Amino acid sequence: MVVSLCIRPSRETRGRPAYQELFLMAVANRYKCRLCGYIYSPARGEPHNGIPAGTPFEDLPESYVCPICGMEGKGKIGKWGFDEWIPTRYICTVCGYVYDQARGEPHRGIKAGTPFEKLPDTYRCPVCNLDPKINKEFGKVGTSGFSPLEF
Ligand code: FE
Repeated sequence: MVVSLCIRPSRETRGRPAYQELFLMAVANRYKCRLCGYIYSPARGEPHNGIPAGTPFEDLPESYVCPICGMEGKGKIGKWGFDEWIPTRYICTVCGYVYDQARGEPHRGIKAGTPFEKLPDTYRCPVCNLDPKINKEFGKVGTSGFSPLEF
């Protein structure tokens, strides 16, 4: 993922992310506050704190503090208090089904421990797939219909 280091979001774009930013969202990692569990997501940034969507954790200013527990009077947690965080559970944004890496879907041939990223292109949400109404309205719901669960 060395290439991600060369990509910087264009700061001129407001609102809709440029394609470079979209690329960055796919490769930049999330970081989790060790104290409170807040997850910094580069795709989301913290626009209310002046950090635009598309800002990698590494590019946050040294003065950055966790916006959650820093506000609860537990002392300010800086970048040093964050660890890289890789999601292991993903939720279907159509029906709410949760894919859990620890569980996999053994009954469908997906072994326990299979990361979401390793699911085949043919993967379909098992719940949506069985619902004719959802199929009619949303089509087949594949991995692009899922979002990481941040807890
Ligand atoms: Fe679903």
